Amino acid sequence: MNDLLKDATVTSLLAKLEAREVSSEELVRAYVDRAGALGRLNVYAHLDADRALERARAIDADRAAGRPVGPLGGVPVAIKDVLCVEGEPTTCGSRMLRDFRPPYDATAIVKLREAGAVLFGKTNMDEFAMGSSTESSFHGPTLNPWDETRIPGGSSGGSAAAVAADLAPASLGTDTGGSIRQPASFCGVVGLKPTYGRVSRYGLIAFASSLDQIGPFTHDLADAALLLKVISGRDERDATSVDRPVPDYSASLDRKPESLRIGVAREFFTEGLDPEVESAVREAIRVYEKAGARIKEVSLPHSGYGIPVYYIVAPAECSSNLARYDGTIFGHRAEDWSPRYPGEEDLHPLVRMMMASRAEGFGAEVKRRIMLGTFALSAGYADQYYNQALKVRRLIRDDFDAAFQDVDVIVGPTSPTPAFELGGRSDDLLSMYLSDIYTVTANLAGIPGLSVPCGQTKTGLPIGLQLLAPAFAEESLLRAARVFERETDWHLRRPAIGS
Ligand code: GLN
Repeated sequence: MNDLLKDATVTSLLAKLEAREVSSEELVRAYVDRAGALGRLNVYAHLDADRALERARAIDADRAAGRPVGPLGGVPVAIKDVLCVEGEPTTCGSRMLRDFRPPYDATAIVKLREAGAVLFGKTNMDEFAMGSSTESSFHGPTLNPWDETRIPGGSSGGSAAAVAADLAPASLGTDTGGSIRQPASFCGVVGLKPTYGRVSRYGLIAFASSLDQIGPFTHDLADAALLLKVISGRDERDATSVDRPVPDYSASLDRKPESLRIGVAREFFTEGLDPEVESAVREAIRVYEKAGARIKEVSLPHSGYGIPVYYIVAPAECSSNLARYDGTIFGHRAEDWSPRYPGEEDLHPLVRMMMASRAEGFGAEVKRRIMLGTFALSAGYADQYYNQALKVRRLIRDDFDAAFQDVDVIVGPTSPTPAFELGGRSDDLLSMYLSDIYTVTANLAGIPGLSVPCGQTKTGLPIGLQLLAPAFAEESLLRAARVFERETDWHLRRPAIGS
């Protein structure tokens, strides 16, 4: 590995850039070389090295001329392929959007540019962000940098693996039911899902609009705080983004909380929790205890309904969001829409064109979700499924409200197991869905969640600790996590890949 990238973080690279020890161009070149050398991991769905280098040179020139370069001036940041970047392929891991090049930037991307980041590649992901392993991508699976026979988690697997393998010092992902936190835990990095409404979703290709949020992957909390501040804030183009001041998360990060009440939810230590994951998380709780935190057992009695509710709400929203991809204005258009099955001759050719385009453009998991959602919303069933799910969603949120009366943050495992083997759960969808059992409730409740590295299995796979906080309490969430980070060195470990 180029020495420049060894143990690099956003903060350490910024210091070197500021001190003129390195130029942004040199840095970008080093990451481009590494991306070439580690192409087998399949982290990037697309990487326009020339464009990144050009941008780096422009920032170097600004810095040399004494012009302001922004808080991320010259640092490369990788972007999940679900976020629109003007002029660059934005495929969502789907054949449906293979040829899509957005004519505009997502708001989070505009903010990164304004902060001086160098947009560096589009990272691989599960098709339309539906999945927990990055295996449903049209571009093929991404490999876990800690063990290449395993998946990196999903759906933001490429963004997590990019940071873990030092293919970018930071990245953006999205989290609808755990897609930032779960891959962060499987890849041994920090992953933060902000409060619903904290970050604008404009230009994020929608999966489930009431759950989707954009957030950063980094090596440590200082970097997470920095990125969160850059991408947060009200945006008039997203009516669900909230008009609240964005705190300076970096400034408060190292202020130790005067008192810290940690909640341990009974329901997060259930059947199916891997013993090695459980012991790492219990050890993390002891670290908190030793650091002076008060530990209190809390209960989230409706957590058990998290997965069933999520798998009604998310597919329902997805079936509506994905209706636009039918080959007329958006998405892949089939070349042949002649009748394939008996009865199709009677259909209008336009309808057959849409059917053929959707049949070819979408993969199996996306089709399954669309069918699930369409069923749950259909006349006669909506009351039984969708409306019922919304009521339970409210109860899940009430559980958190009640628990946060007594504690500042709730901790537990991010995922019940470490990274599983490639192909290991493809035939057992329920076990795939269950890997989000501890993460989906935060999305349903709209609260922020964070995964930080907290241990390793005997075979060296990373384990993540999840921390949850009340809505818009990212500041205290980060500070509480920092208490753990200060006492341990899990966040410093990196996979021995090409190093
Ligand atoms: N794994 C979950 C799903 O498949 C969550 C995905 C996400 O957060 N985007 O829906």
